[in-house]
Amino acid sequence: MKLSRLTSAACLAAFLCLGSPAHAEWVRRVTDGIMGTRITVELWSEDKDKADEAIDAVLDELRHIDESMSTYKPTSEVSHVNAKAADGPMRISKELFDLLVTAKEYSVMTDGAFDITYASVGYLYDFRKHVHPDEAQIDKALPAVDYRHVLLDPKHQTVQFSQKGVRIDLGGIAKGYSVDRGIDVLKSRGFTRAFVSAGGDSRIIGDRFGKPWMVGIRDPRKGEGEVITRIPLTDAAISTSGDYERFFDEDGVRYHHIIDPHTGHSASKVLSATIIGPYATRTDGLSKTAFVLGPEKAMEIYNRIEDIDAIIVKLDGTVIYSNGLEPAKALRQQAGK
Ligand code: ADP
Ligand code: MG
Repeated sequence: MKLSRLTSAACLAAFLCLGSPAHAEWVRRVTDGIMGTRITVELWSEDKDKADEAIDAVLDELRHIDESMSTYKPTSEVSHVNAKAADGPMRISKELFDLLVTAKEYSVMTDGAFDITYASVGYLYDFRKHVHPDEAQIDKALPAVDYRHVLLDPKHQTVQFSQKGVRIDLGGIAKGYSVDRGIDVLKSRGFTRAFVSAGGDSRIIGDRFGKPWMVGIRDPRKGEGEVITRIPLTDAAISTSGDYERFFDEDGVRYHHIIDPHTGHSASKVLSATIIGPYATRTDGLSKTAFVLGPEKAMEIYNRIEDIDAIIVKLDGTVIYSNGLEPAKALRQQAGK
């Protein structure tokens, strides 16, 4: 009893000696050029130097993932896999192996709509240069698109492609994965309130002092600042896929970066899909499905997965919500939107 009183007296003295309390603030940094997208890191910190060091560490982690997983870099581990895995089993890093396992799980969950071997035809597109394959090229490449061609051996940590022509691209999951790794870096340094985003994939830990973070969902046919709704989020990830991200229009057809693994064409059954869930790897891996399967079939799958919610903008501009988001829908209707 005596001791504890002493301790608290000592604490009080120490506090008074410190004078004004430490200066705490939100620290935010926006960086372009990693993974070809915009990275935003924001966190609450009582020490600006520690905040800056932590943000540097997050960006280093993202650069490392980009170096290892980008198909734009001939030296990346994924590029090596694409060059050699059809020749026999290839030992790969644990990080890549685990992500390939996860990617396959999403293929199974989405009836093959998410499929990293989309790249076997996907590489024939160049959206910046307005290049797309013709039917003959698609027909030739399409048999190589099937996630079951990617053979993973956990015992030896190897990957092998079951036939020539198979290519993988982790563009549909790597940003979400990076966001999760970025959040891990911040958590391991003791941060409890933070936001990390890479392009359309974001994750939040903690709240904004009793208030949630408000994340806007862009109107797919309007400018960047125009949103269809804002979702309050705490401790959650959110990913949006849209046909407006990387595209060109030719003769009334929109060629864009989400490919239907069954046809080899751009998947155009919705305008955008937003997934909310616990991890950005998961929300990223699931946001492409609606484009491939269409709103009804995709929503059925989304509703079946326990820990996620979804908002889909259909081709006619109407918005549909997963069962867990009915309250958000009601709010939007009240606001007359
Ligand atoms: P962002 O790259 O901005 O995060 P998305 O999350 O919508 O955008 O992912 C689009 C990317 O997913 C494409 O650029 C491509 O790399 C990859 N991709 C395209 N089609 C598929 C598919 N059917 N399955 C898995 N990944 C895909
Ligand atoms: Mg994404």
